[in-house]
Amino acid sequence: MSDDCIFCKIAQKEIPSAMVYEDETVVAFKDLEPQAPVHVLIVPKKHIASLLQVQAADKNLVAHITCEVIPQLAKELHVSADGFRVVTNTGDAGGQTVKHLHFHLLGGRSMTWPPG
Ligand code: AMP
Ligand code: ZN
Repeated sequence: MSDDCIFCKIAQKEIPSAMVYEDETVVAFKDLEPQAPVHVLIVPKKHIASLLQVQAADKNLVAHITCEVIPQLAKELHVSADGFRVVTNTGDAGGQTVKHLHFHLLGGRSMTWPPG
């Protein structure tokens, strides 16, 4: 837990969110400014600043998120059949505004490429 981190506070339920999933290590909640009809953030409860700070000990956690939680949520939120996008902005040039690792799950419309 990092004192000034908004996603740590959401994970600890100190700040309200529209939570769609929770287990021992992960929460997922609706993005406050949705960029698609389905836009949720999948967030480890452990404070990890970004993909660059993931340690060897976090491998199972990241695999759990990418291989289990995201596919399950995509099905539950009805975007798996048509397809969806997963984004992890990293660092300033990557567009990361919240310095706590998170995965955007976006769906419900056709995505464009290249991203902005
Ligand atoms: P990023 O810019 O990739 O770091 O993504 C941060 C995301 O967090 C943005 O899409 C914001 O809209 C979203 N966000 C910021 N604060 C909150 C909040 N309190 N509840 C839900 N989403 C939030
Ligand atoms: Zn945090």
